[in-house]
Amino acid sequence: MSAQGRDEGLVILGAGLTGLSAAYYAGPGARIFEAEAQAGGVCVTDREGPYSFDRAGHLLHLRTREVQRLIQKLLPGRFQILARDARVHLMDTAVRYPIQANTFGLLPEIKGDCIRRYLEAAVLMKKRPRNFQEWTQATFGKSLSRLFFEPYNHKLWTIPPSDLTLEWMKSYVPQPDCSRVIRGAFADIPEGGGYNAEFCYPQTGGIGILGQALAANISRLSLNARAVSVAPRRRTVDIIGPGRITWQRLISTLPLPALVAMLEEPPRKILEAAQQLCSNSVIIVNLGVRCSRRHPAHWLYFPEAEYSFYRVGFPSNYGRMAPRGISVLSAEVAVKAGTGWEGRKKLACRVRRDLIKAGLLGKKDVIEKEYLQYLPYAYVIYDKNHFSARKIILDYLESQGIKSVGRWGGWEYSAMEDAILAGKQAVLKK
Ligand SMILES: Cc1cc2nc3c(=O)[nH]c(=O)nc-3n(C[C@H](O)[C@H](O)[C@H](O)COP(=O)(O)OP(=O)(O)OC[C@H]3O[C@@H](n4cnc5c(N)ncnc54)[C@H](O)[C@@H]3O)c2cc1C
Repeated sequence: MSAQGRDEGLVILGAGLTGLSAAYYAGPGARIFEAEAQAGGVCVTDREGPYSFDRAGHLLHLRTREVQRLIQKLLPGRFQILARDARVHLMDTAVRYPIQANTFGLLPEIKGDCIRRYLEAAVLMKKRPRNFQEWTQATFGKSLSRLFFEPYNHKLWTIPPSDLTLEWMKSYVPQPDCSRVIRGAFADIPEGGGYNAEFCYPQTGGIGILGQALAANISRLSLNARAVSVAPRRRTVDIIGPGRITWQRLISTLPLPALVAMLEEPPRKILEAAQQLCSNSVIIVNLGVRCSRRHPAHWLYFPEAEYSFYRVGFPSNYGRMAPRGISVLSAEVAVKAGTGWEGRKKLACRVRRDLIKAGLLGKKDVIEKEYLQYLPYAYVIYDKNHFSARKIILDYLESQGIKSVGRWGGWEYSAMEDAILAGKQAVLKK
C-alpha cells in the first residue's frame, strides 16, 4: 500500500440510500465503497427462496416533489399508494392508530377516563415539558400517556420516556386537534392523520428495489469494500480490497461511532463524545405462515410489556412477499445496543408464544418459514447527551473535510426520503 494511494477526489463510504443518493447526484466523478456484497444498506430486501423479507417494515412516506419525481423516474409505476391501516393492540382488542384520535375502540370506562384526562390537560396551565413523558402527559393527558405512549416508547427506545428528550418527536407523533380527538371518541373514523397516514410500497420486489434502482445508475460503486481506517490529516482512507485511497472530499454514511473508531489520532474529546452516543438494536422474527385467517391490518403496535415485540407487521397485506396462500408476519423486538440478548432460538420461541397469545397465530396455522434479521444499529436514542455529543463529533469531522450524513452518519431519527435528500445535499453543498 503506497503512503498516499490513488486520488479519487470525492469519496463516499457506505451504499445505503444516503450514500447511493450522494453518488447518484455527484455523477461519475464520485467513487463509492460499500462493505457488504449488495447496495441498499438497511433498505435491502433479503431473498430467501420464494420469500422476500425487508429489514423491518419499510414504508415510503413522500412529502417532497423532488423525491417523488426521482422515484417515478427510477421505478415508473412500481410503487402503489396505500392508506395506512395500523392498530394498537391493547387488552386483547385492536384500536385504530393513532390511538389519541381513535379512543372509540377502547372499553367505555377506559375511554371516558382518557378523554376526561385529555380535556384536563388541554385546559390546564402547562409547564414547559422537559422530557418526552412530561410532553405526552401534557399533550394527551395522563391516561393515554400511561396506556400507550409511555409503555410503547419505553419498549421501542429501551429507556424510560422520562429520559428521552423532545428533539425527535415533532414529525413522528401525530397531534390531532381537540375536535378530532372528541369525534374519534364517539365514532370509528378510519383516517387518523400523522406523517404515515398514506404510504408507498412496491407491488412486487420489496422495498429493496429502491436501492437497487439507484445503484444501477452509479458507475463507480465497489462492493465488498470495507473501510477500516480514515486519516484526516493525510486525507486517506484504507479500504479492504482496493487499498489506500486519497480523497479531496469525504462523505461518510457509516454509523458515527464506527467512523470515530476508525479515525487515526482522533482528539480525546471526540472519543469521549462518541462514548455518549446511544442507540438500540432491533431483531426481526419473520414467519411465513399458511394460515386460515389473515389479519387485515398493515401493522400492529404492542405497548404491553407482556409481549416481547413492540410492533408486528403484515407485509403480505401491502406487497407480494411469499408464495400464494402464505402470509408473512414480522415481529420487531428492540434491545439496547451492545447488550446481549437471549439468542435466536429462544427469542423466536418467545415471539411465537406471544403471537399465539395475541391471537395472531392459530392452532391450525402452519409455519412454513422462519427467518431472523438483526439490525445492530436501529434507532438513535435521543437522551440528554445526544445533542451535544453529536454536535462535537460532526463539527470536528466537518473541520477535517469529512461530511458525516444519513440516519447513522448524521446520528438522527430519519426516514428513507430524508436519506435521499441528505445524500443529495451533501454533494451539492460544499
Ligand atoms: C427498524 C427500522 C425501520 C425503519 N422504517 C422505515 C420506514 O418505515 N420508512 C422510512 O422511510 N424509513 C424507515 N427507516 C429508516 C431508513 O431505513 C433509513 O433512513 C435509511 O435506510 C438510512 O440509510 P443510510 O444510507 O443513511 O444508512 P444505511 O442503510 O445503514 O447505510 C449505511 C451503509 O454503510 C455500509 N457500511 C457500514 N460500515 C461500513 C464500512 N466500514 N465500510 C463501507 N461501508 C460500510 C453499510 O453496509 C450500509 O450499506 C427504518 C429504519 C429502521 C432501522
